[in-house]
Amino acid sequence: KDRKRILNSNRLFLSRSIPSSRLITYHPSLQVTGGAGFVGSHLVDALMIQGHEVTVADNFFTGRKRNVEHWLGHENFELLNHDIVNPLYLEVDQIYHLASPASPPNYMYNPIKTIKTNTIGTINMLGLAKRVKARFLMASTSEIYGDPEVHPQQEDYWGNVNPIGPRACYDEAKRVAETMCYAYGKQDRVEIRVARIFNTFGPRMHMNDGRVVSNFILQALQNEPITVYGDGEQTRSFQYVTDLVDGLMNLMNSNCTLPVNIGNPDEHTINDFAQIIKRLVGGESEIVHKPAVEDDPHRRRPDITRAKQLISWEPKVPMMFGINKTIEYFHQEINRKKHSERN
Ligand code: NAD
Ligand code: UDP
Ligand code: UDP
Repeated sequence: KDRKRILNSNRLFLSRSIPSSRLITYHPSLQVTGGAGFVGSHLVDALMIQGHEVTVADNFFTGRKRNVEHWLGHENFELLNHDIVNPLYLEVDQIYHLASPASPPNYMYNPIKTIKTNTIGTINMLGLAKRVKARFLMASTSEIYGDPEVHPQQEDYWGNVNPIGPRACYDEAKRVAETMCYAYGKQDRVEIRVARIFNTFGPRMHMNDGRVVSNFILQALQNEPITVYGDGEQTRSFQYVTDLVDGLMNLMNSNCTLPVNIGNPDEHTINDFAQIIKRLVGGESEIVHKPAVEDDPHRRRPDITRAKQLISWEPKVPMMFGINKTIEYFHQEINRKKHSERN
């Protein structure tokens, strides 16, 4: 259904808006690293619908071909099975650099690979940007603020990260990735954009990636206990994936070289969030508490003043709408899994 909808809207766009000769002239060629992942695949949809040529480089560590399969065979689309820890030579105008595991269980699974992907991988993509004079957008994260002592988090806060804790492989690697962006910006005049992305959810999240949104929805749909880690009074602010995609595209096409928070300031405790999911899904799940996670940030909420002022962006999708869409998606995924187990 999704593929059909996207394909139809793409055809509509191509037939209605721009003659094909102008597509070649006016639409830059783009590279999306990590484009077969959750966020990357939604970004690819939006860029393809705008008529760009899009190359995805992904090693399928946490991504899936299925997320972009509706574009396979399209003349503007190319999918490369490529690990960005190795150099990559292509010609592109803009690079959206998203390749990196993102959920804590995924990035902790192989911490050294997480570090290599975000350091060596980012150097390679910056080297590519430098050679071809492409604009480079780094998918950074609210995790660079660590367990923040400042609330809400503004971009000029330097953060509070434990450099040797279990989250450090991700947090510190993203911090140095930001540093590398600014070094390439200063020394080699690479045009850089840095998005500090806050918790994001939506369809195409992995069933087993262990993040709170996927865990709670799957648990509720299967009448299993909803697992709150620690006392559940820690907070997060959740944005829907299409808002994030709009933010990334606005940032890429703006003149803003400062880091920009992209997130929804709608903040909830994890206890509240468990109740919301239980109410929306229905079912018999009880809410249970599990041991707290080491170095789990206590509070997180973006200050998005800069995004509003400099890239004219703010989130639009209400959380309940997004959650219902995501519940629908996981419901289909469970059925798909059951079906494939039967056959
Ligand atoms: P995801 O795990 O769904 O996608 C990451 C993609 O990167 C996957 O397709 C994976 O296969 C690919 N990848 C990983 N290592 C690679 C490598 N060495 N070479 C090539 N490809 C590689 O995660 P996501 O949620 O889509 O996150 C995308 C980006 O956004 C990440 O950089 C993440 O750090 C950032 N981010 C996401 C969130 C969020 O809430 N989703 C929050 C903050 C930051
Ligand atoms: N690189 C790449 N693709 C390119 C250009 C460079 O993958 O099109 C990689 C290359 O492997 C290099 C890294 O990017 O190690 C950094 O490039 P840079 O030019 O900054 O460094 P140098 O090649 O001078 O070490
Ligand atoms: N969490 C939870 N139960 C789960 C998964 C996560 O209580 O089954 C908590 C986790 O401890 C954290 C918050 O939910 O406080 C968000 O976790 P997630 O892994 O989604 O993202 P994070 O913001 O920690 O990167």
